[in-house]
Amino acid sequence: MTALNATIIGAGIVGMSAAAFLQRSGYKVTVIDRVPPGEGCSFGNAGGLAFAEIVPTIHPRMLTKIPGWLMDPLGPLTIRWSYLPKALPWLMALGRNAMPDRVKAITDARAALALRVVSDFETLLQEAGARDLIRYQDTLRIYDNETQFLADAGERAAKNAYGYETKRLSGGEVRELEPAIGPNVHCGAFHGGWYFVTSPERVVKTIAAEVVKNGGTILADDVVSLERDGSKVTHVTLKANGRLAVDRLVICAGAYSHLLAKQLGEKVLLEAERGYHMVLPNSGVSLSRSITYARTPGAATPMEMGLRLAGTDEFAGLDAAPNYARADALWTNFKNILPGLREPDSATTRWMGRRPGTPDSLPVIGPSKTTSNVWYGFGHGHMGLTWGPSTGRLIAELMTGAKSNIDLSPFRADRF
Ligand SMILES: Cc1cc2nc3c(=O)[nH]c(=O)nc-3n(C[C@H](O)[C@H](O)[C@H](O)COP(=O)(O)OP(=O)(O)OC[C@H]3O[C@@H](n4cnc5c(N)ncnc54)[C@H](O)[C@@H]3O)c2cc1C
Repeated sequence: MTALNATIIGAGIVGMSAAAFLQRSGYKVTVIDRVPPGEGCSFGNAGGLAFAEIVPTIHPRMLTKIPGWLMDPLGPLTIRWSYLPKALPWLMALGRNAMPDRVKAITDARAALALRVVSDFETLLQEAGARDLIRYQDTLRIYDNETQFLADAGERAAKNAYGYETKRLSGGEVRELEPAIGPNVHCGAFHGGWYFVTSPERVVKTIAAEVVKNGGTILADDVVSLERDGSKVTHVTLKANGRLAVDRLVICAGAYSHLLAKQLGEKVLLEAERGYHMVLPNSGVSLSRSITYARTPGAATPMEMGLRLAGTDEFAGLDAAPNYARADALWTNFKNILPGLREPDSATTRWMGRRPGTPDSLPVIGPSKTTSNVWYGFGHGHMGLTWGPSTGRLIAELMTGAKSNIDLSPFRADRF
């Protein structure tokens, strides 16, 4: 019997996970990316396997904070004003999705997607002998004052309702767990259901190496256009390698996916939610887990290359030059709670990545509605590392006709 062929655009965590699970289902896979595996957005994230993050990124309480954040160009959320008209349809949809009924439905869908995050991750890394990239150490959130702590009560209640443990800790208890945290913190909260990986890039490269070892192909090229005949894509046109025939196509092109979907007549609302990181190989700080700090959203994660401070959200489109002052602002922020944090030095690196963000904090997972041999896996926003392997499994299940463990209707492509 000849194997079915699947061509996957995008070698990030989502595309490589789809390739790996399709291969396990008997597909012969070709993955195309203009950069090497794991060097798009999946390169520089905070490393959180944050499966307990079931409350959408933007929710009613956060809406009240946004105006203050927007006043500060180095704050956790910024919009380059020249870009505002372009982002407006997405932002208006975001507002609609912050209504309580939508938040409840979105929370349900995120909780469902979280169910097999850890086992799907383990499936992919175990085979490569790289399960030690996962650290099974839950997170702590740190607070400056009681107001900050109380403001998160709704989120903790939602997590508890879905079975995720949260627990208040005094400043002393926080420092017992993480002695690097300074004496001025007011309190902390233990949040169960948030592990971390020690190198997001190596996670993707490990999965990619396994795919190649099992007979898959990774092609370094740029997909310029999709060619259709009737209701099927027949070829992709590549910048360097010309036309390539495709049998079944999976689009996992991160923040660029809407550009490809548009060629198929499908409108999806996707914005590059640009985030930054700073990695300090000589941080002077030792942490045993990823921590987050309530003052401005962001995480500090101990990784194999150093301490990674990551976060912030900038709306400026796909192509605007990075503003690395935002990475420096992460350092200033974390210095408040990590007094031993050393100044950046010549070994320090800064990075910007484009999160593929939808206005409802849910990814697109499922078949194209216009083209019968195309499937989508993109739009994972702040949660792509966490949900990537499960998305890969779900795509493989859809393409092989296997029953999925969850209702996939909230993730359909034609909801925008
Ligand atoms: C600062 C920051 C912190 C984060 N922290 C976390 C976290 O702690 N936990 C978490 O779960 N998530 C986190 N994320 C989000 C996560 O990193 C992303 O959701 C995830 O990496 C998206 O994966 P992807 O495979 O969809 O996209 P990508 O990794 O960007 O992969 C898409 C690939 O498609 C390729 N591509 C696009 N168009 C084409 C084309 N036409 N031709 C060829 N190739 C193409 C790109 O080159 C790219 O390599 C964070 C993100 C940022 C920026």
